[in-house]
Amino acid sequence: MNEAVLVIEDEPKIARLLELELQYEGYQVGKAGSGTEGLEKYAEGQWDLILLDVMLPGLSGIEVLRRVRAKDAAVPIIMLTAKDSVEDKVSGLDLGANDYITKPFQIEELLARVRAALRLSAVASVASSASSSTSSAGNDSSGYKDEAEGWLTAAGLKLHEGTREVFRDGVPIELTPREFDLLVYLLQNQRQVLSRDQIVQAVWGYDYYGDTNVVDVYIRYVRKKVDNGFTPPLIHTVRGVGYVLKEQL
Ligand code: CA
Repeated sequence: MNEAVLVIEDEPKIARLLELELQYEGYQVGKAGSGTEGLEKYAEGQWDLILLDVMLPGLSGIEVLRRVRAKDAAVPIIMLTAKDSVEDKVSGLDLGANDYITKPFQIEELLARVRAALRLSAVASVASSASSSTSSAGNDSSGYKDEAEGWLTAAGLKLHEGTREVFRDGVPIELTPREFDLLVYLLQNQRQVLSRDQIVQAVWGYDYYGDTNVVDVYIRYVRKKVDNGFTPPLIHTVRGVGYVLKEQL
């Protein structure tokens, strides 16, 4: 059962980025490019969460929020607000938004807020409907792994594509799905300098619509987990070109 997220956002690049990232995390995604379209889509579907931009042409995000809340007190709504608009945040929260995130946002933070809002809303709905539903026992189907096969390695770093385990000098490292894919790509192409475009195409897919800054952001995340506190550093910046994973520069 995939949770459904409605994204109401008029900037195509941001809407597309949100759509791809949310789909990648396993959500069903609907998009609307204006407040009016957002209300229509909202009425047509069953949504578990709404991501709602405040600055929309025509009907504003605040007005959309007001109208959705008039009918539905429960659906979690996260507002996307401009950085300095304290007024929007306050009126959004007053009108029943569950959370807000300021632009420009870091996608990982936004995804964490989405997970948190969905979790809270699931808890609330279980509490309000006295009956309980069964929860899945997890998806760990096999404990077996072949030590010799399936590992990508560099210095003290090892990563298993099948089990998705990552270790640096024997210390387990937790990566998000996107960070994991990025590290796989770097390891598969180690010692080759990779441009931001190459990385975006390989890790985000060729139809990725956002800009390549996302690569720098994710390199920073992965570097922090994989290189911080370990030697030698493995992920190197090649100024003006891109990135390379190797033991020695
Ligand atoms: Ca906007």
